[in-house]
Amino acid sequence: MAWFDEIPREEIDWGPTIDEAACRDGCRVCLDFCRQGVYDLVDGRVRVVRRTACMVGCSHCAGLCEAGAITFPSLEELRKARPRP
Ligand code: SF4
Ligand code: SF4
Repeated sequence: MAWFDEIPREEIDWGPTIDEAACRDGCRVCLDFCRQGVYDLVDGRVRVVRRTACMVGCSHCAGLCEAGAITFPSLEELRKARPRP
């Protein structure tokens, strides 16, 4: 079990952010790829609608975005959520 499995998901700052200016909404690669329901169409544009549904540590969709429009917190930021003994 990973350390973050013991923390309420809402308390972990992890998930994608879309640079709306850079996003080419027509491509929808992230929307089609993610099986967690993180993305959806809002007024015809791809948006992050369920950020906490993103699997902690996953960032696969960012690598697939040819526009480089998807970013994630750094791993250093993620580690800040780790409880200290
Ligand atoms: S993959 Fe990138 S460019 Fe395509 S819809 Fe998602 S964020 Fe926008
Ligand atoms: S990182 Fe993984 S789980 Fe999170 S939004 Fe992208 S594809 Fe979905």
